[in-house]
Amino acid sequence: MEKEGEIMLSIKCKDVGMKCDFEVEARTDNELVNKFQEHISKVHNVKTITPDMFTKIRKAIKK
Ligand SMILES: [Zn+2]
Repeated sequence: MEKEGEIMLSIKCKDVGMKCDFEVEARTDNELVNKFQEHISKVHNVKTITPDMFTKIRKAIKK
C-alpha cells in the first residue's frame, strides 16, 4: 500500500519555456498547477493559461 503524502510533484518554470529558475512542489496535480499558475501570473504576467500552455505544464510535471 502506498502511504499518502510521500509523493511530491514538482515543476520548473524553465520547463515550460520561461527563463526562470522558479520551482514549485506540491502533493497533488491540482495544487501544483494552482501554485504554478499563481507564480506565472504574478511574476510573468501570464493571466490566462492557454490550452497550449496547459499542455506544457502537464508535460513538465515531474513525479
Ligand atoms: Zn517563473
